Amino acid sequence: MRPIQEVFPLLQAPKKIFITTHHKPDGDAIGSMLGLAHYLTKKGHEVTSVSPSEIPDFLMWMPGVNTTLNYEELPAKALEALTAADVIFCVDFNDYNRTKHLEQALADATQPKVLIDHHLFPKPVWDYGMSIPEKSSTCEMVYDFINLCGDNALIDLDIAACLYTGVMTDTGSFKFPITSASVHTMVADLKNRGLDHTRIHEEVYDSWSESRMRFLGYVLIERMEVFRKYNSALIVLSRKDQNLFKTANGDTEGLVNYPLSIAGIRFATLITERSDEVKLSFRSKGDFDVSSFAKNYFEGGGHFNASGGRTKLSLTETIAYFKKILSDIHPK
Ligand code: 5GP
Ligand code: MN
Repeated sequence: MRPIQEVFPLLQAPKKIFITTHHKPDGDAIGSMLGLAHYLTKKGHEVTSVSPSEIPDFLMWMPGVNTTLNYEELPAKALEALTAADVIFCVDFNDYNRTKHLEQALADATQPKVLIDHHLFPKPVWDYGMSIPEKSSTCEMVYDFINLCGDNALIDLDIAACLYTGVMTDTGSFKFPITSASVHTMVADLKNRGLDHTRIHEEVYDSWSESRMRFLGYVLIERMEVFRKYNSALIVLSRKDQNLFKTANGDTEGLVNYPLSIAGIRFATLITERSDEVKLSFRSKGDFDVSSFAKNYFEGGGHFNASGGRTKLSLTETIAYFKKILSDIHPK
């Protein structure tokens, strides 16, 4: 992969640009996609942003969100934009399979492909890009990209809101160790432009439906198991429970973090039964590497302290398999 600066000549004249991110997008995925889209549009390019699946409700306030295409809703239109594009940007993922439905189309596409991402172990399939696992978020990297282009002055309130969202969500509101001084410098710059960070925090974290709040209470009482011996905890969400509470897209966001607020718990897992697979989310505090854990046992990956994976086993089999691994490896 060549350094991202080498793509600058390609962007000198107006281009058709396709931007996409990962399946089941989070704040950093949509924030980086929209932040980049706003910037490239300002530079005179024709931009199409495609989310591989539905954008969760807590992100629907974001500037430009209504211009994005949801692949699951409009696959033909999304593929048409991909075919028509001169340049493809991929943000917040580093393996085509993280886009699920777009995997094959991206692999087949022959246009120059640019990666902006902070996950570990990128696949060697991009022509240009930045892959920096030490970065807090892809949104921070989009900010760096804009600055590298010499366009700091073009950062307006829409771009600032998008980029702030991803930095805030991926750093756990600035508490994870990955939150470097450069993150705070970036936020200071955005604040100087008039960023309303309180409003963004409220939109993302304090806009729950009543049923989501009650679902959280139910899950913590009924569906969380604590394994003191392994400094670990597990939350299991069956399809039945999800149907019972009619959980909406995004309602399970952040659930996996709750057990880490228990003193002594250093490894938290959320197992979610989906229609086509069982999804696992892993979070840790300190030096337990959940990226390797996800990679070794659940066909996944991610970051050192936050990762995900999946399995085709049944929910019951997954739980048994997970507990067996836990007793084998004894997380500290
Ligand atoms: P989540 O638990 O929120 O789905 O994922 C946590 C982090 O791990 C996110 O940064 C996400 O992008 C990453 N992640 C989740 N699933 C996978 C996966 O299957 N492969 C890789 N490489 N990363 C994943
Ligand atoms: Mn991210």
